Amino acid sequence: MTMTRPAWVEIDLAALRHNTGLLRDVVGPDVAIMAVVKNDGFGCGAVAAGRTALQGGADSLAVGNPEDARAIRDAGIKAPMLLYASTLPEAAGSVAALDVIVTVHDMESLAAFAAVGQPLEVQFKVEAGLGRLGLNSEDWPGAFAAVQASNNLRLTGIYTHLNGADDPAGIKRQIAHFEQAYEAGRAAGFDDLGRMVAASNIVLSYPELNYDAVNAGRLLFHMLEGEWAGMIATRPVISAVKSAIIQVKEFPVGAHVGFLGGGAVEQITRLAVLPIGFGDGFKHRPPLGEVLVHGQRAPVVGRRGVEHTVIDVTGIDTAMVGDEAVLLGVQDGAEITGAELGAWLDLPLMEILPRLAGTLPKVYLDQS
Ligand SMILES: *Cc1c(COP(=O)(O)O)cnc(C)c1O
Repeated sequence: MTMTRPAWVEIDLAALRHNTGLLRDVVGPDVAIMAVVKNDGFGCGAVAAGRTALQGGADSLAVGNPEDARAIRDAGIKAPMLLYASTLPEAAGSVAALDVIVTVHDMESLAAFAAVGQPLEVQFKVEAGLGRLGLNSEDWPGAFAAVQASNNLRLTGIYTHLNGADDPAGIKRQIAHFEQAYEAGRAAGFDDLGRMVAASNIVLSYPELNYDAVNAGRLLFHMLEGEWAGMIATRPVISAVKSAIIQVKEFPVGAHVGFLGGGAVEQITRLAVLPIGFGDGFKHRPPLGEVLVHGQRAPVVGRRGVEHTVIDVTGIDTAMVGDEAVLLGVQDGAEITGAELGAWLDLPLMEILPRLAGTLPKVYLDQS
């Protein structure tokens, strides 16, 4: 793989299909999988991610902003797609034109979607304890009544985003609250509302909360952390970040090297430069971790530049211009995992990996 500027990310679509199949095995055939492809498919491209998750067995998609929804529809993907709350009431008309299931998160959004006039499938986002978006309990009776009073809204489900999968008592409390919303709907005559509460960690820890559909993102993209990372054998989707050495310099003993702090080096030192930097989604200040060259680990030295990374290849005698450098992924049997990269940079996987994938040129792999 050579590019005019050798710096790219590899996206393994086969891994995304595989991971979606694993989720299917976990939830069984009767629970719908709504694949979360927000944030431009976690950096992988909303269209590629959405299409691949559907190929892997997902039933529907969820996105977090109208641009991603539009891209997916423009690509001809027709599967049901939920749009999370992300717009102002005055945009209700343009949201309605996206052919998505819209989210009602408060009474204003509900009134705005009712005023649009055209038939619209909606779901209620219920505030169950996270403290972010959603209808509060005092809103529920009025909200169900407003749907009934409208002549265009078709309410098909309610959902929420649970807080704290590591806190069973908290999950129980939030579910009790969510169930009250469901009961309020039944009392208002909505007998067959779908229920959805399970994001990735919940799917793995609370199978009894799968309800009608699960709403998983990170699991599909191999971005689980902590105890959940070990609970399912997903494969990396953002599978590699690669560059190549564009210069190697050797410094004799006693040379003053600014990039190493300016002091005199005590041994012959070889530094190599990669044309990839924090402008591509990495970080400026150390610790910056390591890079693979010829399957050996070379530490990143100094501060990372906007478009450059300097590595110490003193111990890798064969390193020369043109050699591939792996900043994430596998090379000659060695590996830098996302978890390792995230630990060096002190960033969660769902922050660092989509940022890299969203910024660097993408190369899609699709083997098997
Ligand atoms: C991001 C998100 C999810 C998916 O969460 P994961 O932890 O990535 O599985 C589910 N529901 C809502 C509302 C979200 O914003």
